[in-house]
Amino acid sequence: MAATVIDGKAFAATVRGKVGEHVARLKADHGITPGLAVVLVGEDPASQVYVRSKGKMTVEVGMKSVEHRLDADTSEVDLLALIDQLNNDPEIHGILCQLPLPKHLDEDLVINSISPAKDVDGFHISNVGLLGTGQKSMVPCTPLGCLMMLRDHHGSISGMDAVVVGRSNIVGKPMAQLLLNDSCTVTIAHSRTKDLPDVVRRADIVVAAVGRPEMIPGDWIKEGATVIDVGINRLDAPEKGEGKTKLVGDVHYESCAARAGAITPVPGGVGPMTIACLLANTVTACCRANGLDEPE
Ligand code: NDP
Repeated sequence: MAATVIDGKAFAATVRGKVGEHVARLKADHGITPGLAVVLVGEDPASQVYVRSKGKMTVEVGMKSVEHRLDADTSEVDLLALIDQLNNDPEIHGILCQLPLPKHLDEDLVINSISPAKDVDGFHISNVGLLGTGQKSMVPCTPLGCLMMLRDHHGSISGMDAVVVGRSNIVGKPMAQLLLNDSCTVTIAHSRTKDLPDVVRRADIVVAAVGRPEMIPGDWIKEGATVIDVGINRLDAPEKGEGKTKLVGDVHYESCAARAGAITPVPGGVGPMTIACLLANTVTACCRANGLDEPE
C-alpha cells in the first residue's frame, strides 16, 4: 500500500492560523503584540532566505518582526551588546540568532547570552537542561515540528521504537529527547554507528537528520514505518534545465515511500513546520513573559 504523505505545508498553515488567532486575542484583550527579533551575521545565502521567510511569516500572523543584519566581520562584543539590548527590550519576546555564525564568533557563547525566556530556538543550555529533565522549556523548532506531525499522525507514539539518524545539538539530540519524553524507545545513530541499515530496520519511526542527500534507501525501512525526513539538500537538476537545482531530503523518497506507512516529503514536510513552531514559540514566550495562559 502506498505510504500516507504527511503534508507539513498544510499542517504548518493550520499551526500558523492558530498562532494568528492567539496573537489577535493578545492584542484585543491585553494590548500586547508579540515581537520576534532575528539576528543575521554575514551573507550566507541560505540563511538570508530563511531570515526573509521568517520575517514575512512573523508579520503575516500579526506579530512584530525586527531584523538585525550585521556585517560578517562584526565583533563578538558588538553582537553580545545587541543581544543584551534585545534581552532588555520589553517589546521583544523572542530572539533568534541565525546559525551558522562566522567562524570568529563563539556560537555557544552567543547562544547562551540570549535570555532563556526569549530563546525561541531552544538552544540555550538552560532550555536544553529543562527539556532533558522533562520540565517546561523552550523546545527547538525543527524537532518540535517533527513531534507534532508524529503525534498528529499516530495519536500516541508511546512504546514505539524510534531511530534518530544524526546527533546534532539543533536537531538529532533534542529530537531524541522529545521522543523519549513521549515514551518511545529511542536509538540515536550517527557516523560511527555500526550496521546502520540494521539499526534503521528496527524502527517504527525513523527521523533522518544527517545532511547527506538521499542517504537512506527504501530497503532500510521496516514495512509500515513512519519516516520523518529533516534533511534539506540542494542538488543540481540538469533535467529541469541549465543551472537548475532541486531540493532532496536525507532519505531516498520513492523507495522509502514504497515501504513506509507514512512519510514527509522534501520540500513541504519538516521545513514549513519549523517556521510555524518558531512563531508558536514566540507567542508562548510572550504569554509567559506577561503571566498569561499559553497556547496549547
Ligand atoms: P549536522 O551536520 O550538524 O549533523 C549531522 C549528523 O549526521 C551528525 O550527527 C553526523 O554524525 C551524522 N552523520 C553524518 N554522516 C553520517 C552517516 N554516513 N551515517 C550516519 N550518520 C551520519 O546537521 P544538522 O543536524 O544541523 O542538519 C541535518 C540536516 O537537517 C541537514 O540536511 C540540514 O539542512 C537539515 N535541517 C533542516 C531543518 C528544517 O527546517 N527542515 C532545520 C535544521 C536542519 P557525527 O555526529 O558522528 O558526525
